Amino acid sequence: MIYLPHYVTKSMLLATILTTGLLSACFSTPSATATASTAPETAAVSSPPIIPSQPPATLTPAFQYTPVISTPTPTAKPQVVQRPAYDFEISYDPTAQKAEVKQRVIYTNQSSETLNQFQMVVEAARKAGVFSLQSVIWPDGTPVENAHLEDDRLIIPLVVPLVNSRSVSFEINYVLTLPEAASLLGYTANQAAFIDWYPYFPPYLSGQGWVIEPAGRVGEHLVYPPADFKVTIRVPDTAAGLIIAASAPGEVIGNNIHQFNLQNARTFSWSASSKYQVVTAYSGNITVNGYVFPEHVESGKAAAVYTAEALTLFSSLFTPYPRDTFSFVEVEFADGQEGDGIFYLNKSYFAYTSGVGSGLGALSAHEVAHQWWFSAVGSNQARYPWLDEALCTYSELLYYQNLHPELVEWWWQYRVDSYNATGWVNSSIYDFQAYRPYVNAVYLRGARFLDEIHQQMGNEAFISFLHSYAVAYAGKLARPEDFIALLRQSDSADIQPILDKYFGN
Ligand SMILES: [Zn+2]
Repeated sequence: MIYLPHYVTKSMLLATILTTGLLSACFSTPSATATASTAPETAAVSSPPIIPSQPPATLTPAFQYTPVISTPTPTAKPQVVQRPAYDFEISYDPTAQKAEVKQRVIYTNQSSETLNQFQMVVEAARKAGVFSLQSVIWPDGTPVENAHLEDDRLIIPLVVPLVNSRSVSFEINYVLTLPEAASLLGYTANQAAFIDWYPYFPPYLSGQGWVIEPAGRVGEHLVYPPADFKVTIRVPDTAAGLIIAASAPGEVIGNNIHQFNLQNARTFSWSASSKYQVVTAYSGNITVNGYVFPEHVESGKAAAVYTAEALTLFSSLFTPYPRDTFSFVEVEFADGQEGDGIFYLNKSYFAYTSGVGSGLGALSAHEVAHQWWFSAVGSNQARYPWLDEALCTYSELLYYQNLHPELVEWWWQYRVDSYNATGWVNSSIYDFQAYRPYVNAVYLRGARFLDEIHQQMGNEAFISFLHSYAVAYAGKLARPEDFIALLRQSDSADIQPILDKYFGN
């Protein structure tokens, strides 16, 4: 069966791909290189306080920490929806593996409810000795009374409740002491990783409150609303050769100040190493930078090509990728990890010799697909992990069907058939004690579920459905009922028998 949609031709895809090149860290910093080819969004070294895009003049200035109790006049312009905004100033010492962080935040209450406190998620506090809270202060320097850490939550009481559309700003100061571990937040002899490293605002849902899910034994549990990030990382002069891979392209000022801007993103993550070699490929105007260890430059170049191919394909099938750069990083922690504008993939995948029909090919496509099924369309990863993981696993197959059809059979065998998967697709992460049964049920049977839907609907209607879903829920948190309702609308045939086969109560 030919799965190529009528509006994507293979020649069109291939024409947009790719030249690869190798930049040596000895000659130029990759961050600077990446920035040179993109419209600079960063400004000078000294930065004004972060403020949301212009509020109506009649409303409270964003930086006033005590909200003014007033009602916008009838003539006021409609309030623009404001995302949480974070401005980080980080002093990172790669020798001590410590980071002192000053994090300014602005939060606008977008719900109809009045908030008496904030609850921020501090994933870094889940491991003892990593997150050390120094202070929480208002912009005038006075302490936020009774702000405190409660397990992995930072509680910020609001003396003046925050009503709808009002903003509040404060500053959190803390020190991160990285554990020596190949983990999402940790360091090894070869690199440091900063994933889920800062306190963040989870979504707030009217009638439900802050969406904070506990960690499970498997899977991911954090739920993120879109936010804006400005990040400045200073390193000592002795670390001038340090290379930082991040969710956004960096601007390097002098030898030791790295600046990043990222808008409308679920997360901002980064990784530092003096060993990274940078491989580059292009997907149209999008620059793909891969940060790999010296022994894996060749497979890194291949991964850059697969990544660029997948970006081009998914931009055509789903919705256009919204940024002009994308990065991936070879890491020493297990498996793959998605982030906004970036993914991380374990080094074992780079030690291959079998071309695109490999874990490197499949996982590159998978992690790229998370730019749609995680970054653009958000979801509750703890309760409904199939909403992103089944779609990303099935997106691997779309990648092979469209660009490497000779490997479709291989993919089914390698990725799905060999595991004899069982379990309900709509399981939560809490239903499992071990990783493999979780992947089998959610990822692999999820792919089978989507394939049956795909076969029943036909290619054009199925791709059109995925496109509609990506458009409808961009920037939002999609729920299973949203996905199913849109699917019912899009499929003229009855999907209930397929749902009964794969979904438990
Ligand atoms: Zn995934």
